Amino acid sequence: MQKDSRIFVAGHRGLVGSAIVRALGAEGHTGVLTRTRAQCDLTDQAAVAALFEAERPQYVFLAAARVGGIHANDVYPAEFIRDNLVIQTNVIHAAWKAGVEKLLFLGSSCIYPKFAPQPLREEYLLSGALEPTNQWYAVAKIAGIKMCQAYRRQYGFSAISLMPTNLYGPGDNFDAESSHVLPALMGRFHAAKAAGQPEVTVWGSGTPRREFLHVDDLASACLHLMREYDAEEIVNVGTGQDVSIAELAEMVAREVGYQGRIVFDPSRPDGTPRKLLDVSRLTALGWRPRIGLREGIAATYRWFREQGA
Ligand code: GDP
Repeated sequence: MQKDSRIFVAGHRGLVGSAIVRALGAEGHTGVLTRTRAQCDLTDQAAVAALFEAERPQYVFLAAARVGGIHANDVYPAEFIRDNLVIQTNVIHAAWKAGVEKLLFLGSSCIYPKFAPQPLREEYLLSGALEPTNQWYAVAKIAGIKMCQAYRRQYGFSAISLMPTNLYGPGDNFDAESSHVLPALMGRFHAAKAAGQPEVTVWGSGTPRREFLHVDDLASACLHLMREYDAEEIVNVGTGQDVSIAELAEMVAREVGYQGRIVFDPSRPDGTPRKLLDVSRLTALGWRPRIGLREGIAATYRWFREQGA
């Protein structure tokens, strides 16, 4: 990527896409191209094809997706599978047709089997059954990986796929029902502190373990691999360290300054028991995260309060 390359970031208003736009800007890239949904609906095949024909981007970061936490995945399975399949198929195909030099597709660590050995190595893909709560999203993402690999094999298209772990950071969705755990807890502890509530409920048993990566670190990894990596194998992106949901809740409560009790609601699903990525492939490619979890939670809480919460 040159500083003046034409770079399309699909999904630039989301958590990941907005972080990629920030990272490109910070590194002096002047040819960043974005479109809102009103300007180009990525589920509209003709609109996507027309955009690529008109703008002829050289590089594409495919960060557009329908995403959500464990509850949203369970309640909107049709939208999760349809929107993700349609968006990624439209963008990958149009990018190849329009002669894009390289495309980076973002998957997710939920593509791995529910009971795969830990830490999760890239070759465990399709070695077992998926976690039921997010299988719709996972199947769509697996199709995206396979589409990138198929277009590379048949057409020589430089499409690479990254599998980020659970992400968090500025620009996240803090809605109580549809969000992921970290922003959900931050919002809930913040509100409970303000209202003087004696206890806060955390879904599930508190025992599942998750790995959390700050989205600015993910964006940095995306730029690094767009420059340095060009092969069909998927690459995990994470920190290689995880915490239990109970530990996470304590960390977030401490940062927010909430001193009440934390209680667990076992009627809510736990999801996958553990989802820790093996990041040795990424490390060998010369990239490491910089933002620790405590520091990242503090930065995200500063951002959250600046939004007027
Ligand atoms: P997952 O990694 O796909 O399961 O995504 P989530 O971030 O939605 O959930 C991670 C874990 O946190 C699960 O075990 C949830 O049950 C647990 N959890 C605890 N409280 C919450 C909450 O308020 N919202 C969400 N989304 N998850 C929660």
